[in-house]
Order: sequence, then structure tokens, then C-alpha cells
Amino acid sequence: MSFIVEASLQLLGLLIVFIGAAAIAKLILGYKTWLDSKSDSHSLENQILDLLPQTQCAQCGHPGCAPYADSIAKGEAHNKCPPGGQALIDTLSQLLNRESMTLDETLEEDEEELIAVIREEECIGCAKCGPVCPTDAIVGANNMMHTVILQDCTGCELCLPPCPVDCIDLVPRSQYL
Ligand code: SF4
Ligand code: SF4
Ligand code: SF4
Repeated sequence: MSFIVEASLQLLGLLIVFIGAAAIAKLILGYKTWLDSKSDSHSLENQILDLLPQTQCAQCGHPGCAPYADSIAKGEAHNKCPPGGQALIDTLSQLLNRESMTLDETLEEDEEELIAVIREEECIGCAKCGPVCPTDAIVGANNMMHTVILQDCTGCELCLPPCPVDCIDLVPRSQYL
């Protein structure tokens, strides 16, 4: 009888050790996942991406800012973003600890950052501009006047062609600071 009790106690002990080990392993795994996610948000690609202008204009030869950020981190030259201009190149040179350079000679620096502004009194509320905006910067309902949230506009010009009454202008952002 005492043998059975002793065996049961040993079994219980083993079970407790097993559950404890599993709990510790889970904690370690969770901590590692948290560390990985933290280091990812501070990865070089993300730091570069944070500096890019986010206009998604593709002048750098990539379909958007994120793929160019990845490519810069892997060694591509960091002087191919006209909207960012020389200021961006200098900032990236510091971040990457690379020599300073000028804009790629095949590209032209953007004169001044432009944004879209709707001449609201002419807007017929057709709502054709909203769906094409990549940053959801255009607000308005069907048959109602539309307007652009200036801080969200990247000046990509995609909303201009769909407007049937041509009431969207591109103007220097500095006019609206
Ligand atoms: S040129 Fe600059 S702003 Fe345009 S997509 Fe490339 S990184 Fe983004
Ligand atoms: S230019 Fe037009 S489509 Fe492009 S971000 Fe500005 S409002 Fe949106
Ligand atoms: S496409 Fe032109 S007319 Fe139609 S809602 Fe947009 S700004 Fe107004």
C-alpha cells in the first residue's frame, strides 16, 4: 500500500516539475518574441523608411518608399529620392555612416513639395477622386463638396485625372503652413 502512495507522490512530483518547466519555456519564448518585435521596429529598414517622404511616387525606381528603404539597407545608393532632396540624402548619410553625396544625376530634385487643393465651390460631389487617393486624404460624401486633408496629402497627383470638372489644383505646401 505504502509502495502505491510513494509511487503516486513521485508521479505527482514529476508532473509538477513538467508543468513548471513548460511554464518557464513559455515565458522565455514570449520574451524572445517581444524582443524580436522590438528589434524589428527599430531595424535599419524601418529607421530609413521613417525618413523617406512617403509620397510613393516611384521616382527612385522602386514601387514605393518601403522597398527603396529595404534596398538602401542592403547597400543601394541613398541618393535616388527627388522629393526628399539633398536634406534627405544628408540625413541618410549620417544614419548609415556613409559618405555624403548629391542627388543621382539622372534625377531632378523636386522644386517644392506640392499638395492637392480642391476648389470647393466648383466641386460637384461626384466622389470620383476619393477612391484613387492612396493616403485617404480626400473626405466628402456623394453629392457633397469634397476637401483634402492637407497634412495627409503627398501630392501624388492621382486624384487629378478622375475629376470631371478639373477643380483640383496642385499648390506648394508652403502656402498652407
Ligand atoms: S522617390 Fe522617394 S518618395 Fe518616391 S517612392 Fe521612392 S523613396 Fe518614396
Ligand atoms: S494628390 Fe490627391 S490622390 Fe494624391 S495624396 Fe493628395 S489628395 Fe490624395
Ligand atoms: S472628382 Fe472633382 S468634382 Fe468629383 S468630388 Fe472629387 S473634387 Fe469634387
